[in-house]
Amino acid sequence: MKFSGKNVLITGASRGIGAQIAKVLAGMGLKVWINYRSKPEIADALKDEIIASGGDAAVIKFDVTDEDEFIKGINLIVDSDGELSYLVNNAGITNDKLALRMKTEDFTSVIDANLTSSFIGSREALKVMSKKRFGAVVNIASIVGEMGNAGQVNYSASKGGMIAMTKSFAKEGASRNVRFNAITPGFIETEMTAVLSDEVKENYIQNIPLKKLGSAEDVANGVAFLLSDYASYTTGEVLKINGGLYM
Ligand code: NAP
Repeated sequence: MKFSGKNVLITGASRGIGAQIAKVLAGMGLKVWINYRSKPEIADALKDEIIASGGDAAVIKFDVTDEDEFIKGINLIVDSDGELSYLVNNAGITNDKLALRMKTEDFTSVIDANLTSSFIGSREALKVMSKKRFGAVVNIASIVGEMGNAGQVNYSASKGGMIAMTKSFAKEGASRNVRFNAITPGFIETEMTAVLSDEVKENYIQNIPLKKLGSAEDVANGVAFLLSDYASYTTGEVLKINGGLYM
């Protein structure tokens, strides 16, 4: 991949898909800023692993639901590197239950963690990137934002919102050469899906045309493409990485 930018902030990058995105992008020559919220030892270990493999990495602690902290984090990166070339809004949570049992707080807390945080990150990135007339953002949405899912009224609303928001940001960012795209992963093997029983996973696999769950690397490779110069004419796009489960 070819990148005209030099650094990237990945939210929620100490584990799961975010950690793999950090490894893949560092391997392609970008300086990666590993955002973490709660486990400095895991974030530091990832940073050390990337540096030991010849990459460039730094850790940055903030909670994406805290607007002030998020803005301070982006400012710190710009003060340090003179720019923020790329952002991946990856941090996300689930809080699954059937709608009839879902309290309003169960709904709004997931919207805040997934959608509102991505809005704050995208807006702040657009401010910084506009000055350089260059940048790209990838929002990690989800297949359930496209097709819905029982037990995930809150999560699917947050992810569907991210898809629509990405397209609107793409329209506003285009005149400043700042691209916004989304990825909608299907079922990817991480701690988020580790809670599913083997039976549930097997049922999903039966319905997935490629007959397997996806890996964090599958998603990371899509992120690399969308941030890279290879996608310089792509904005407002939603890249499905789901084994064909939803076409
Ligand atoms: P994961 O293993 O549960 O990891 C989530 C990451 O987000 C963790 O590093 C977590 O940090 C971080 N995070 C959560 N809330 C945060 C906050 N308020 N501030 C900062 N960081 C926060 O999840 P994953 O499977 O890697 O998922 C990554 C993204 O992909 C999410 O947006 C998810 O919705 C999306 N996705 C996943 C799948 C899947 O099948 N796994 C499918 C579609 C979409 P802590 O360690 O501090 O909790």
